[in-house]
Amino acid sequence: MTIAYEVLVQILLTLWHVLPWLAGLSLGFAVLSRWSPCNEGRPWWEKRGLVTDLGYWILSPVFARYLRIWLTVALTVALFGISDGREIAEFYKNGHGPLSHLPLWVQGVLYLVLTDFALYWIHRGFHRGFLWKYHAVHHASEDLEWISASRFHPVNLALGAGLVDVVALLSGISPQIFVVIGPFNIISSCLVHANLNWTFGPLRYVISSPVFHRWHHAAHVCDKNFAGNFALWDLMFGTFYMPAHQLPRNYGIADKEMPEGLMPQLLYPITQRDPVQQAA
Ligand SMILES: [Zn+2]
Ligand SMILES: [Zn+2]
Repeated sequence: MTIAYEVLVQILLTLWHVLPWLAGLSLGFAVLSRWSPCNEGRPWWEKRGLVTDLGYWILSPVFARYLRIWLTVALTVALFGISDGREIAEFYKNGHGPLSHLPLWVQGVLYLVLTDFALYWIHRGFHRGFLWKYHAVHHASEDLEWISASRFHPVNLALGAGLVDVVALLSGISPQIFVVIGPFNIISSCLVHANLNWTFGPLRYVISSPVFHRWHHAAHVCDKNFAGNFALWDLMFGTFYMPAHQLPRNYGIADKEMPEGLMPQLLYPITQRDPVQQAA
């Protein structure tokens, strides 16, 4: 089987898995954002950059899958000296070492808290120096909607979610937790990008809400609300921002040269020599 054929099969398989999700999320967020929108205006299906967003919904899962497999296999050979494909699959089937002996729900909670903490700091790193131009793609949406949640440059994916997942697997956590964590991550990341005025009330300081993350994307707000699931990290490290009785508006980045379209955006970090930092 050639690599091109295998990639095509992966794209079709991804479509098969992603389409039901897109259908469900489309309907759910259409109803919710009509009921309690953060910003009045056009519905999500009329947003600018919709086709680009859809492209990322295919590219990101395919890339993340290959990345996880290659990185896990390479590191398993290097760290554990296992090189046979079947032995590697058996090694990871139910996790390994002390972590795998914990109840699955404990492993799931540990994964959620520890990876969210790591991703908070990685996210802060992506707002600095040369890494910003890779993360700028995620911030480029001017009509911020749930469907923009998949907009990540492959470098951002590799050094972010991909890296923490591989580290979690190498540390012994059971891949079975992803049966629940996988769907949870899709729903929670779409929710925080959705056009909703939800703040989660007193829980706003602990759990990331749509308003919390939309402040992170606001064009005039700089370096606030980096957390993925737990807003608590921002509260602890001085980056929490949710002004009372205000809602975020006007999203996007300072660099108006950011191209539209999937391929131009993938090339943007290479073609853009002098990255413009996020608007201060
Ligand atoms: Zn960011
Ligand atoms: Zn975001």
